[in-house]
Amino acid sequence: MSSVLVVEDESAIAELIAINLRHAGFEVTVATDAESANREVDRVLPDLVLLDWMLPGQSGVQLARRWRADVRTRELPLIMLTARSDEADKITGLDAGADDYLTKPFSTKELLARIRAVLRRKAPEALDTAVEVSGLRLDPATRRVTRRIGEDMREVKIGPTEFRLLHFLMTHPERVHSRAQLLDRVWGDHVFIEERTVDVHVKRLREALAPVQCSALIETVRGAGYRLTQKLNSLAA
Ligand code: CA
Repeated sequence: MSSVLVVEDESAIAELIAINLRHAGFEVTVATDAESANREVDRVLPDLVLLDWMLPGQSGVQLARRWRADVRTRELPLIMLTARSDEADKITGLDAGADDYLTKPFSTKELLARIRAVLRRKAPEALDTAVEVSGLRLDPATRRVTRRIGEDMREVKIGPTEFRLLHFLMTHPERVHSRAQLLDRVWGDHVFIEERTVDVHVKRLREALAPVQCSALIETVRGAGYRLTQKLNSLAA
């Protein structure tokens, strides 16, 4: 389930957005000002933030700039919400690092379409779309991982944490992820879980993938972290 943080000081609007997003299957948290939004993101990274421009105290634009300046939140999917419709304001919002921009009032349909578009681009692991790498297929909707070997469709027996880890790696192939980044994006906790937990689950994931000859998909990058390679064929799996 994808998580969305709604940052909006007008409670009626925040509540309406929250109801519609929950109805569409999102997990929603509401923050009413920049400080509490920042605390929330500090605690756990949401999959996406809907950020109102006009907030009491620090504005949404200032908060967006702050997040974009921080390596941990630099890639956080972000849609700005505002009553402003001037082109200059849109440009300011996008320059501040917003991935998209929505002018109030907007329809729920449009909001959901834009959320899905930003997630597809920036956080595909938050969507229920099946992914396939080197013949290994992961389907979030059915929670199944399979690989065809000859005539056989083999199913991979995999634990829930290894499933989420594999999903994240498969939707961000060829990129090196540090243990801290994986804790943030897969476990949702970068403070209270030890980094060696990642190593334990990577080991389990490789063991789970061994029967379908896919262990070698998960590469260790010395001193940096882990990477999922798409070039399995060239490897002795
Ligand atoms: Ca507002």
